[in-house]
Amino acid sequence: MDPQSQIDRYSRQVLFAPIGIEGQHRLNQSRVAIIGCGALGSAQAESLARAGVGTLRIVDRDFVEFSNLQRQTMFTEMDAVNRLPKTIAAANHLSQINSKVTVEPEIADVNHANVERLLDGCDLVIDGTDNFATRYLINDACVKHQVNWVYGAAVGSYGVTMTIRPSVTPCLRCIFPEPPPAASAPTCDTAGVIMPIINIVAAVQVSEALKLLTGKAAELHGSLMQFDVWQNEWRRISIGKPVNDCATCGSGEFPALTAESADFAAVLCGRHAVQVSPTYPADLDLSTLSERLSLAGEVNLNEYLLRFRTGEFEMTIFKDARSIIRGTDDIAIARSLYARFVGN
Ligand SMILES: [Zn+2]
Repeated sequence: MDPQSQIDRYSRQVLFAPIGIEGQHRLNQSRVAIIGCGALGSAQAESLARAGVGTLRIVDRDFVEFSNLQRQTMFTEMDAVNRLPKTIAAANHLSQINSKVTVEPEIADVNHANVERLLDGCDLVIDGTDNFATRYLINDACVKHQVNWVYGAAVGSYGVTMTIRPSVTPCLRCIFPEPPPAASAPTCDTAGVIMPIINIVAAVQVSEALKLLTGKAAELHGSLMQFDVWQNEWRRISIGKPVNDCATCGSGEFPALTAESADFAAVLCGRHAVQVSPTYPADLDLSTLSERLSLAGEVNLNEYLLRFRTGEFEMTIFKDARSIIRGTDDIAIARSLYARFVGN
């Protein structure tokens, strides 16, 4: 591609005065990590590739499924037929959208042992995950290494986002000192999600990314921003400064990065099953969880445990939120199912 066509490609973005030619140059030199390439990650990856962010590292543990296609705009029916890893499918499509962007696909289940390596060398991290366990890993690794990151989440018609700048703004743990208990909140796999809220959350996250990458931090929204596109509610809560007694940005313990606080998953030998134990044991109300899960598959309940069947998998969930997932020997698949149907 000749230099003139590169100028042409970004001309409308360069004409936008706050970015300009200098900002465009910065974007071309930037490396951004997108953690989770589902619905939010799809929108973030496409926007950043079209904007000309030079390198995108895309981390995800899942394969493309047909139920993704309603909102995960990066993928096609063929990707679902071929059961491609999402990172690989994304790299294929992004190379067609902008061949000048380098994509670094990482098929990985983010955990306390690999998160720092996965984020190494990135100027910015964007949250495309679907669970709090991974967000606390991102939070603690980013604060430890003084990397900005943009939190975002969406379920149903509701979404939320916040931009974290270590030492400048509160971190995720300052705002939410502990993750919500397992099974306490709806997930997209139990309560559903509609695409417009994905687009809104991702659009705000990407706008914040463009501001940070082009050195326009003064324009950041500086708040916990919440939206509900069905209830027509838009809210901004101002966030202030880092909290002194926060275990991440106050005392610098980075709890998520220690093995003791890691959620525990183990393959159960000879049973084609994996056991997942949550970071914080909970006392589940199994009948409420049963009602929620019955919308997504077949559920059997007794006073001690709940059995839930989805596709080729069977999840047994106990009152302490521990789960045995039959039908796989793969810890990443088991963790993914746990995040989707139990949630933490
Ligand atoms: Zn903090």
